[in-house]
Amino acid sequence: MTEASHYIRKDGQIVQCLLCPHNCTIRNGKEGICKVRKNENGMLMSENYGKLTAIHLDPIEKKPLYHFIPGSYVLSVGSVGCNMQCVFCQNSEISQSSVDQYLGLKTYRAEELLQLAMQTSGNIGLAYTYNEPTVFYEFMLETAMLAREQKLKNVVVSNGYISEKPLQALLEYADAFNIDLKAFDQTFYAKYAHASLEPVKKCLLQIRKAGKHLEITNLLIPGLNDNESVFREMISWINGELGTDTIFHLSRYFPRYKLTVESTPVSLLENMYAIAARQLTYVYVGNIRENRWQDTYCPGCHACVVVRDGYQVNRNGLTADGNCSHCGSRIVAMG
Ligand code: SF4
Repeated sequence: MTEASHYIRKDGQIVQCLLCPHNCTIRNGKEGICKVRKNENGMLMSENYGKLTAIHLDPIEKKPLYHFIPGSYVLSVGSVGCNMQCVFCQNSEISQSSVDQYLGLKTYRAEELLQLAMQTSGNIGLAYTYNEPTVFYEFMLETAMLAREQKLKNVVVSNGYISEKPLQALLEYADAFNIDLKAFDQTFYAKYAHASLEPVKKCLLQIRKAGKHLEITNLLIPGLNDNESVFREMISWINGELGTDTIFHLSRYFPRYKLTVESTPVSLLENMYAIAARQLTYVYVGNIRENRWQDTYCPGCHACVVVRDGYQVNRNGLTADGNCSHCGSRIVAMG
């Protein structure tokens, strides 16, 4: 446990956390919505600081990041807690737990995690993932600073629900982001995630403005966020505000946590893929067995430059610096 950053003290030992757009006002002895930031006698504490649920060397494609050092591996870590409460959460065992509720947390210092990352062969850096990394912000930032000093990469997989100031500090050290854009509909965010859409859009714009590598994931849930005109509006916004070359991952939903709606039909994914691909250069479909939406094609000469079979990646169609080896078009970031 360590003192949290980004909060203010109010009268009567009350604090207000400013880390995410919830801006929770927290009384002494209570926690914020994320369950992991607690007011201890007028001081806001990060309860999950350095407390990890998992450490795995994952393929970068699993984040998913398809245009950031494809075929590489990244040491991925997560803790407990989340600042959203999605009824369809795909990993609620960790995201909806507090430090006391989750058994088996392992405590690390940032220096220890860095050592592990440096000693892990074939590893490009650290990915802050599994649960929402915003809610272990202090540990993430401290580790990211150390990783940067050692020229390791920092990857952030997030719901994008973070306030401007803390994000700006994180942008100094983060190299690549995958942001979950859950829907383009405020009612959806309020009803199914207990959050708001606008701050997520702001976060995406801020990352883009900072020039960091950005990919977006959208979990497609039948009947909840599959309205075609809203989906088209989301794709148009991404195209217009973030750029045609913004990498977009459609992800298949499976029933989890409180939602029992049936899995996304492949025909629905096909339909939405076609809508997205009309405007965006790079669209992928994930969480399915089929490989047909996994490969990367050069927008310049249409050559297939990266072939993916599950997490097996063949990037022979790329030059060492990430360009198409046929026509030289820029395709991926290599670091
Ligand atoms: S990070 Fe947690 S405590 Fe802070 S505002 Fe967000 S939900 Fe509330």
